[in-house]
Amino acid sequence: MQHRKSRSRTHHRRAHWKATAPALTTCANPACGKATPPHHACQHCGFYRGRRVLPPTGGDT
Ligand SMILES: [Zn+2]
Repeated sequence: MQHRKSRSRTHHRRAHWKATAPALTTCANPACGKATPPHHACQHCGFYRGRRVLPPTGGDT
């Protein structure tokens, strides 16, 4: 008998490759407050966990 497919592998069929819900948290920078993905530096002000890790882009580009 071959290895049983894990639930993860089974669900990785192309039929399941739909867009995931946009998980967003509010920026940790009180001066910004924009929605930003969790565990990512803010795209608006570059803050992550209380310090600036990216140059602020201003939103475009
Ligand atoms: Zn921000």
